[in-house]
Amino acid sequence: MHNKFKPLYPLKTQTLWLKLKSWENGRVEDQAISCLAPYEVFAALFRYRAQFDKTVLGHRGPTACEDYWGELLQSDYGKTHPVSTEADLNACKHRLVPWVWHSDGSRVFATTEYKVFSWSSQLSTFIENILNQKIYILMVPQECLTSKTLPEIMRWLKWNEEILKSRTHPELDFYLQEWEDPYRAALAGKPLASDTGFIDDSFGACFVSIMADLKEKLKIHKFPWNFHAHLLCEWCNAHTKSEILNPFDFRDEAGWLKSLVSHQEYLATVPAHRTSPLVDLPGWTIDRNVLDSLHAWWMGFAKDIAGTLMQDLSLFYCGDIDNGLQYLWWRYKAWCKQHKRRTCLKCFRPGVICYAPEDYPLLQDYVKAAHTRQLCQFLAAECIRVVEDGLDTSEYARMRASMMWHYQQHWRILHDSDLFMTASAAASAQHHGFCVLKYYQELAYWSYCEG
Ligand SMILES: [Zn+2]
Repeated sequence: MHNKFKPLYPLKTQTLWLKLKSWENGRVEDQAISCLAPYEVFAALFRYRAQFDKTVLGHRGPTACEDYWGELLQSDYGKTHPVSTEADLNACKHRLVPWVWHSDGSRVFATTEYKVFSWSSQLSTFIENILNQKIYILMVPQECLTSKTLPEIMRWLKWNEEILKSRTHPELDFYLQEWEDPYRAALAGKPLASDTGFIDDSFGACFVSIMADLKEKLKIHKFPWNFHAHLLCEWCNAHTKSEILNPFDFRDEAGWLKSLVSHQEYLATVPAHRTSPLVDLPGWTIDRNVLDSLHAWWMGFAKDIAGTLMQDLSLFYCGDIDNGLQYLWWRYKAWCKQHKRRTCLKCFRPGVICYAPEDYPLLQDYVKAAHTRQLCQFLAAECIRVVEDGLDTSEYARMRASMMWHYQQHWRILHDSDLFMTASAAASAQHHGFCVLKYYQELAYWSYCEG
């Protein structure tokens, strides 16, 4: 039969067979999943150069690759990275994109969670629009996952990774079969992303980190731990039930500061069946499990800070929440106008803060991360003003202002540092971040004692 539509090659999917539980009978069977092979999307992007420049090279342009590895290879981690230890990779590092894997749960229907995998280039981290940054790979219904599914997906991601490192279209498919598709067969052995047709000029990529939120991280790396019991953290073995190694202990003498685990120690102590499926991915160490700062900070801790401060300041200004929030809203609008920012929320009302059963003020779920951030900036300015103008010079107010000052320093450094952070800037950001947590803990304890 004559097919009048040419297959749209660059974004044609590949089929991956995964062991999944079926929806109907719960039996585990091999099911075909469509995926966009990252190396093929990478090659396709290269044909649309403007998009490749944006999504893969970021705003620094073609020299970004060489600059990135130059910085990374000086670090302790960099010294054991394949780009450092393998001569042929090292020789082409000016053409090698630092590669990030990402996975997350996503609710598609009210009751159905999907696990979604995507990739991005570390160089495009500072592109504002997420659609230009993270590229879809595949998604699987959470309910259908078995213990075999993730390792299979990981094996397939590793296969992609090998191709990206080789900078060459593969001769065989993932199942080591000849390509059925004539287009792919014709590409076998050709460079992935080269202007001249020579492999030497082709772009490729190499792993530097995997990003996931806490919940996702536990699943991906097979940590036998969860939020309610057992171990929580692969970096320090702290867990929420522990008095000595509690992850929410931010005092200088906190136990987990003394129980930090190196990658070698992780490998030596974690039993084989519990080891992360990434363990044989060249370049992976536990330190490359990058936290998603959007989740960790703006969707998590910053919501506590904002909720608490909105309640604090409302009560301080007006004596009650309703009037206090109105007054605070009026001040917020003035602050936004002064700093040429959009107000991004329609008003402050008690519903913006939600009260947990323990009467704990927290910013509502629907307040987006970007809005939470802006709100925190405003609240920082308020807390500092209250002390500077002498409206409240109590120790509580001063410690609160200190906390928010550290908070501002922390984010100013992260914001200004772009891709390359000096060691002293990193240490400084870490110091300020830790001070925020430390003061917050002390203030919370203070409030708790005061009732
Ligand atoms: Zn930890």
